[in-house]
Amino acid sequence: MTGRTPAATQGSGPWHPDDGPGRILELITSGRARTRSGIARITGLSRSTVGQRLDALFEAGLVREGAASTSARGRPSRALHLNESAGIVIAVDIGESRTRVAVTDLEARVLADAVEPLALSEGPEALLGRITATVHEVVRDAGAGGRPIAGIGFGLPAPVDYEAGHVLGWSIMTGWDTYDIRAHLRADWPVPILIDNDVNLLTLAEHRRFWSDQRNLLYIKAGTGVGSGMVIDGRVHRGSQGAAGDIGHAHVSGFGDPQCRCGNQGCLESLVGGWALARDLGGGRPGEEGDARSVVEHVRRGDSRAIAALRKAGRVLGESAAYATSLLNPDVIVLGGLLGTTGGHLMAGVREVVYQRSLPLATRQLQIVPTRYKSHAGITGAAHLVRDHVLAPATLDSALAAGSSPFPAP
Ligand SMILES: [Zn+2]
Repeated sequence: MTGRTPAATQGSGPWHPDDGPGRILELITSGRARTRSGIARITGLSRSTVGQRLDALFEAGLVREGAASTSARGRPSRALHLNESAGIVIAVDIGESRTRVAVTDLEARVLADAVEPLALSEGPEALLGRITATVHEVVRDAGAGGRPIAGIGFGLPAPVDYEAGHVLGWSIMTGWDTYDIRAHLRADWPVPILIDNDVNLLTLAEHRRFWSDQRNLLYIKAGTGVGSGMVIDGRVHRGSQGAAGDIGHAHVSGFGDPQCRCGNQGCLESLVGGWALARDLGGGRPGEEGDARSVVEHVRRGDSRAIAALRKAGRVLGESAAYATSLLNPDVIVLGGLLGTTGGHLMAGVREVVYQRSLPLATRQLQIVPTRYKSHAGITGAAHLVRDHVLAPATLDSALAAGSSPFPAP
């Protein structure tokens, strides 16, 4: 891929008779049609035309057909599936102090992974060099050497210009601003490279695995920092500059105006972020900044001050979540991050304020739930990012029309 990445399409518009194999595959992967007769029924195409479109997908190795079974009407049919082994995905999730590298199949299932203690302060050249070496090792561990690579999904703890593929504006990733990550990686892997903000990847992972039948989802990550992501009408909403969902640095009134690490005062994160709670609880070693982990240690020990602080933080976070609920009318709010998933204290405060502050219409069907992921959510989101892109009907149809394999062999 060179230059800018076109947005992948997710979800179907109305069927058009000129739609190619890509839309047929979309019917199969979305579960809307699982058999030849199901596809013919939805599309109105003849069985022979359906057969032709499927042949293109079989030839590309993208679809496999299960064993024959007999339907209620007595006609034998075979279930159609995405061939999850048609290509591997390289998924990288860079965190503040460690990075997870994984190889997945096209269903975003992890085949092998590794966690490295890589610090952002090492800078892009050194860090990407070490990540590249780790990726080669993990591909070997997965026994995936020589298999076609569908693409690379990359998550960063910073606002990202999704199309240009680089870090944008203020973030904890000092020195990464506008660094050309794709150019660095493309030297080893000339495949689609998709780069996104880490919370967008968590949002995508949550939606695709657990909530794909819901159109609108708000994800809030409450850890050392605070961020959010949105799925609107089935797609991640990134905003004009990739800054959508950056609620951690939106001002919250009425709770004092403490100094935030972004330079402003009174940001949500300066009140409820893990570093802010650690600051308020004190007790850390002099000169050492506390984080979500240190707060959670207090909570797990049953420290009543820490539990009360987390519950209060939930109510402050609830103010922002209530505002977002009025604006977006989500079907579900998912709470993730270390603080969001510890003991239900933060969740209790968020629920209390959202239901209190929002109009009944906005909360009538709203679910507010903790994330169900224990780990690997970022990696899973990175894999889905690649899958959504490479299997997007327009992308796939142009690859198949050009007679090329959908994924290049290494
Ligand atoms: Zn701030």
